[in-house]
Amino acid sequence: MKLSRKVMQPRMFFLFNDALLYTTPVQSGMYKLNNMLSLAGMKVKKPTQEAYQNELNIESVERSFILSASSATERDEWLEAISKSIEEYTKKRITFNPSKSLEEADPEKQEEDSPLGSKAPIWIPDTRATMCMICTSEFTLTWRRHHCRACGKIVCQACSSNKYGLDYMKNQPARVCDHCFRELQKQDNQCTPKSGSPVNHKSPSSALSTVLHSIPSGRKQKKIPAALKEVSANTEDSTMSGYLHRSKGSKKPWKHLWFVIKNKVLYTYAASEDVAALESQPLLGFTVSEVKDENSESRVFHLLHKNTLFYIFKADDPHSAQK
Ligand SMILES: [Zn+2]
Ligand SMILES: [Zn+2]
Repeated sequence: MKLSRKVMQPRMFFLFNDALLYTTPVQSGMYKLNNMLSLAGMKVKKPTQEAYQNELNIESVERSFILSASSATERDEWLEAISKSIEEYTKKRITFNPSKSLEEADPEKQEEDSPLGSKAPIWIPDTRATMCMICTSEFTLTWRRHHCRACGKIVCQACSSNKYGLDYMKNQPARVCDHCFRELQKQDNQCTPKSGSPVNHKSPSSALSTVLHSIPSGRKQKKIPAALKEVSANTEDSTMSGYLHRSKGSKKPWKHLWFVIKNKVLYTYAASEDVAALESQPLLGFTVSEVKDENSESRVFHLLHKNTLFYIFKADDPHSAQK
């Protein structure tokens, strides 16, 4: 399965010793070829968030995307198989091209220096961010999500008003976020101007876009306290993180939210890539107790403060409730 921008789409993958083919099943055992990705420069990684344990991140120069296997075991098998093929393919290339230095062929080294725009980023799926990852303005039907073609983050139009020629897109001007725009300009000033020149998207209508910028244009900018911005949903050194259903009482509706525990503080988010939390709650003085009844299948637990019920949580499976 390939996790595309909005929905999951079934895809069949074929791994060869020099390339990864990805195809769409059409009818009775036939496949339509979508793309053939060379293993040269390809990277496979597990996502950093534990909740996405069936997923695999594939990064290559031409295309990068998230794959979702049917189980964690299947994911690990693919991870191992693809990593091994990349390794063997890279070794072969060194043997055939003795002129190439080892450094050049080492994917680890390449990763560190590969400049912004040299390869396709993974587009963060729409459902994983409810707010602009730069200015935290909330997305609505009219205030839409845009993807930065350089880093793959989800940003609003005000934070991605520039276009830039990216190497992997053969220098065709493409939407980039304000962070990447600055970074790309810096990159180009440092090295010789052989690749990628800034394309000033605003030039013909600069007066107009200045006006547009000054009008709130449907942007819902909430005042977010600094404390909630301290930790983003995708923080690296959290104690644990994942989706849970939460309810404020036995008859209250369930909400599906993303939770992060870091430094004994429970942070609540609407989605896993949001950069600002909805709430933060220090866990000092709180206790949890498991709810035992036939229907709950030990997926439900209570968060209590001195015997007063604070929240009820429900995990998607018994395994994650135990944690
Ligand atoms: Zn923004
Ligand atoms: Zn970017």
